[in-house]
Amino acid sequence: MKKEESKKLTVAELPVGGVVEAGTAVNFHTGSWRSRRPVWSKDKCISCLVCWVSCPDGSIRLVPDEKRINIVDGIDYDHCKGCGICEKECPTAIGAITMEEEKK
Ligand code: SF4
Ligand code: SF4
Repeated sequence: MKKEESKKLTVAELPVGGVVEAGTAVNFHTGSWRSRRPVWSKDKCISCLVCWVSCPDGSIRLVPDEKRINIVDGIDYDHCKGCGICEKECPTAIGAITMEEEKK
């Protein structure tokens, strides 16, 4: 748009910009960006919660537990972007999370 043209616009005529829902990003399913997915093994997991602390997207799911406050209950694939940090941080001798190619 030329400078002269922009001067002619009133506020009411300005195009509407992006509208982001306030308060939460839960409704944005950013997991569709993923090219690799973490696969969690319930049998190997000791619920040390290292992956939960490390995940930048809050995509490690927890559930309440009688003996411990919370234990891991899998991956939130709606929001996990597949960065692989959880696999790297999971104690290597345990290997409870492994990254695999995303199936489209
Ligand atoms: S880091 Fe590994 S062992 Fe620890 S809670 Fe996560 S998946 Fe389980
Ligand atoms: S791959 Fe990345 S975003 Fe997905 S659960 Fe692991 S740490 Fe979180």
